[in-house]
Amino acid sequence: MSESIRFNRVSVAFSNQGKTFTAVDKVTLAVNKGEFFGIIGPSGAGKSTLVRTVNLLQRPTSGNVYIDGQDVTSYKGRELSALRLRIGMIFQHFNLVRNSTVADNVAFALLASGTQKAKIRPRVLELLKLTGLSDKADLYPAALSGGQKQRVAIARALANNPEILLCDEATSALDPENTADVIAALRDIKAQYPLTVLFITHQEQVARSLFDRIAVMERGRIVEQGTAYEIFAHPQSKAAQDLIARSHGTEIPKEVAASLQDLLVITFREEHAYDALIAETSRKFGTDLSIIAGRIDYIQGKPLGTLVVSLGGLDPKKRVQVLAFIAERAWIQPYKKEEFDV
Ligand code: ADP
Ligand code: MG
Repeated sequence: MSESIRFNRVSVAFSNQGKTFTAVDKVTLAVNKGEFFGIIGPSGAGKSTLVRTVNLLQRPTSGNVYIDGQDVTSYKGRELSALRLRIGMIFQHFNLVRNSTVADNVAFALLASGTQKAKIRPRVLELLKLTGLSDKADLYPAALSGGQKQRVAIARALANNPEILLCDEATSALDPENTADVIAALRDIKAQYPLTVLFITHQEQVARSLFDRIAVMERGRIVEQGTAYEIFAHPQSKAAQDLIARSHGTEIPKEVAASLQDLLVITFREEHAYDALIAETSRKFGTDLSIIAGRIDYIQGKPLGTLVVSLGGLDPKKRVQVLAFIAERAWIQPYKKEEFDV
């Protein structure tokens, strides 16, 4: 698999009144061609700063950025303009021109890059088709939902056939329904167009359904990376655990959780269907686990089961045996009551 983007020991330091602050700290990371790569992490971790080094909106203080194998770190002038045409970008705010139609909003990007007049309209229609907006060409942004507006921004970002799309919290201002709409559009595009996507988000919904791989950033550094499935099945870093805690989807009311003893979250990987494991545990140990909540997600098409069980009332010796038995087949963590404030 060839690399689309490579960060090689990229650091970005900001100086302010004689003090230096390192926002990105020697990040080395590779994103493969055609991959949808997610970056998650707390606010202030340096995610936006890192992503902005890809199109040199932010120049690294040290280290190098490679695009398609070429070191672009010191590109300037015409070389830099040409590079930026190969890299589209979308943000939380759509930045559409209110007094222009959807078609014209997309056409601006083609005009700006010097596309021949005669080629603009057909290309705009092609882009609107790709983003599922064919019937919206002559509407104004005000008539669109948030998800549709972001799809216009995607069409505009893809106008000049970039090989990379950078998305900085592109769905963070949207509700779950509109977020799902944008996710669906990007997945459609992935199936039709060879695009590498580098996407910053704090939305578990996006991470779960869009990414092939995920890197977790904390205080300027990459602290964990893996396939989306690995990160969800066994998150190592606090940032990844926090993201996924939001996806247990167990929605146990606080008072109910408080009333239950010894609550555990069990995450089952693909090879262990959870119904079988629970039945087996009951049979083997002659005890029923109280299942409080559960669900199965599909991440990259593979099932990942999550159960919340209560072991309250189990005698301590048996509890140890039951946990050891389950731990061979699943990942167990304590249920964090304070995180589920519903
Ligand atoms: P994230 O996107 O993960 O929330 P950012 O990359 O925006 O984080 O910012 C990382 C850190 O760098 C923050 O502490 C932020 O205040 C600081 N920072 C970002 N841009 C600048 C800048 N232009 N000047 C000074 N500090 C900055
Ligand atoms: Mg940011």
